Amino acid sequence: MSESIPASLPLRNDLIGEEPYGAPQLDVPVCLNVNENPYAPDPAVCDSIAARVRRIAPTLNRYPDREHIELRQAFATYLKRESGVDLSVDQLWGANGSNEIMLQVFQAFGGPGRTALGCDPTYSMYPEYARDTFTAWRVAHRNEDFTLNVERTIAAINEVHPAIVLLTSPNNPTGTPLNMADLKRILAACETAPVAGAAEGVHPVVVVDEAYIEFRNLGTPSAVTLIGEHPNLAVSRTMSKAFAFAGARVGYMAASKGIIDCLRIVRMPYHLSAITQAAALAAFEHTDEQLSRVGHLRDIRQQTAAWLKTQTYQGRPLEVAESESNFLLFGGHFADRDRIFRELLDRGVLIRVVGPEGWLRVCMGTDEEMARFRTALAEVLAEPQ
Ligand code: PMP
Repeated sequence: MSESIPASLPLRNDLIGEEPYGAPQLDVPVCLNVNENPYAPDPAVCDSIAARVRRIAPTLNRYPDREHIELRQAFATYLKRESGVDLSVDQLWGANGSNEIMLQVFQAFGGPGRTALGCDPTYSMYPEYARDTFTAWRVAHRNEDFTLNVERTIAAINEVHPAIVLLTSPNNPTGTPLNMADLKRILAACETAPVAGAAEGVHPVVVVDEAYIEFRNLGTPSAVTLIGEHPNLAVSRTMSKAFAFAGARVGYMAASKGIIDCLRIVRMPYHLSAITQAAALAAFEHTDEQLSRVGHLRDIRQQTAAWLKTQTYQGRPLEVAESESNFLLFGGHFADRDRIFRELLDRGVLIRVVGPEGWLRVCMGTDEEMARFRTALAEVLAEPQ
């Protein structure tokens, strides 16, 4: 890729040699690599999307509602139902995937002289948002079992004085949830922490990325329940995962009006197309259908985790990280994970090489897809290592 870029182009010095981010998009029978919901929208949802888009098509000569008010109301209605929290339209914000929301967060709160802090291993896009906005990226390492190390995280907050503290719950690629007590301790530490490069009295924004939160075990609360008490807390969500709407590219953020108003400063005008808004509104009309497989995927996760633990590699059982998401990080001691990845791919099963050395990630597919995954992995593990 980088060889195809002529040396005469004035690409930013810090981008020279960089590769575009993204998992391989391959035409294989079993795609378990990007944490999508494997179930297609049902025909009633497709009809509603078509009808809504047909209705607005004659208005496409005009720009869309820049403030996407109707959609922000739909986010509020959804969060009320999903987490029991009352939020107003001005506490919600949408964009083209939570990727775009997060970039807006970095544009608004990061920048030269500013630092963002994450807890690795974590989502590999975060350092890219930091790079793209000239924000320094620092990490506080998680514990061996991938739970957050709260002491280390608070020590890092007091050392690097970040403008953004990025927590992920459940975390990608490990699936680890963040418990409320730990989140509250970090929020309390941030509420008195200074921000390097900012005026006195300025404190970090704490972003909880809840892309996979609907897959959490029943009873685990969402960070959106804390928004009312914490003006510097922002929670990002997406329709891409549990909501089975990745292709539409819709993410959203719940936060104080102040935080949302900061994002409004940096957003592109009319960033969310009228077609996207119409499709998302149609999908929210069918929330029950869109979420109907979440419980099943949660069960499949439990069954797959149990099965993986019965498998061995080099005479030792596979490790499986505790997950409240729709994927599992497994292995722990694969000596050559790239080979296992390739051999699964040879058998038509695409998973992901991501996370610490020795581990691989698989996302939950349909029953048939998971059966093919199990057969293929058992074959690969049975070969001499
Ligand atoms: N956050 C996390 C932790 C993710 O894993 C992903 C997708 N892989 C995203 C955010 C972005 O999702 P989207 O842009 O589709 O909303």
